[in-house]
Amino acid sequence: MGLKAISAPRIFDGNQNHTDAALVWDEEHIHTIIPISELTDDIEHQHFADALIAPGFIDIQVNGGGGVMFNNTITPQGIDTICSAHRKHGTAYLLPTLISSTPENIQLALNATEQGMSDQIAGLLGVHLEGPWLNKDKKGAHDPNLFYAPSVEDLNQFTWPSQGKVLVTAAVENIEPSALNWMKAQNFTLSCGHSNAKASQLTEEKLSYVDGFTHLFNAMSPFEGREPGVVGTALNTDSAWCSIITDNIHVHPQSFLLAHKAKPQGKMLIVTDAMATVGSEKGYFELDGEVIRVVDNKLVNSRGSLAGAHIGMDESVANVIEWGISEDEALKMASTYPAQALQCEKLGELKSGFRASATVLDQDYRSQAVLVDGKLY
Ligand SMILES: [Zn+2]
Repeated sequence: MGLKAISAPRIFDGNQNHTDAALVWDEEHIHTIIPISELTDDIEHQHFADALIAPGFIDIQVNGGGGVMFNNTITPQGIDTICSAHRKHGTAYLLPTLISSTPENIQLALNATEQGMSDQIAGLLGVHLEGPWLNKDKKGAHDPNLFYAPSVEDLNQFTWPSQGKVLVTAAVENIEPSALNWMKAQNFTLSCGHSNAKASQLTEEKLSYVDGFTHLFNAMSPFEGREPGVVGTALNTDSAWCSIITDNIHVHPQSFLLAHKAKPQGKMLIVTDAMATVGSEKGYFELDGEVIRVVDNKLVNSRGSLAGAHIGMDESVANVIEWGISEDEALKMASTYPAQALQCEKLGELKSGFRASATVLDQDYRSQAVLVDGKLY
């Protein structure tokens, strides 16, 4: 196999910018970044005018896309449709995310992930279980009848995937340390979310199991002077990352900017929390028998509750840049930091030996093309 390359006026490699440069890869791995003038004739090459090449976007919370909800189509084909729909928005890799469901459906999701990893579905990185181990007082669009606090025995009854990453969102205040410890021992990434904890319930012991916080500000106890809640604890726990939805609906730009100031660099990352409507003409879908529609760019259920987001990663990045975040930092929030949050080696930077993954953006940060493991889409 010969070398291939894409080039553009600018490449941001996750650390620094290169002008009039080409990203060269060999099969599935990055070879080098060189000036366009040094490309030789034997390298198969595509140039993108007026474009920026960045490390491939990684979205760790994707419920659906392309008309498919993972909850309703818990199969490798469903995952493939979702990954393909999100590539149109610059997402190279994602975690299909199962909203609280039955134990049977959780097992189907774990099986579909295992099969999808074996089949090497382009862009599949693992699975995110968002519940059903959540707090009823912060249910969001989830069905609280499905919620429970799992024991080690409950967790052991599932057959977990042997490949790919497992991210669990749980209301840690409700869960026994033994169960949290079990999840950490399996190398799962654990994120606190849909949680109504008081700061005093997020003890040092509980926080020692927590890697991050899911969709900061949404479905968690708020930050107040006398009671820091989950939001205050998330902002003040330097070791933990926070994911955040930047669709300009779930979180006010000022709240986003304040959180970004409070967290150490590298600990705020963008997620879409996207639903089936992204990359689809259809403006509605069903969840637990309830119809959820796009109304004024918001996804709402019949009670008017926000039910996920109708946005892609490219638009999410464009938003935070518009709000005043530097371009480099915004791109890292969409790739480098999520790669670090999941401890994905060889992703999140355009570096020799890393997986050949990149997102090509136009001047308005709209996705032009996505490179996944050496294949250009
Ligand atoms: Zn949620």
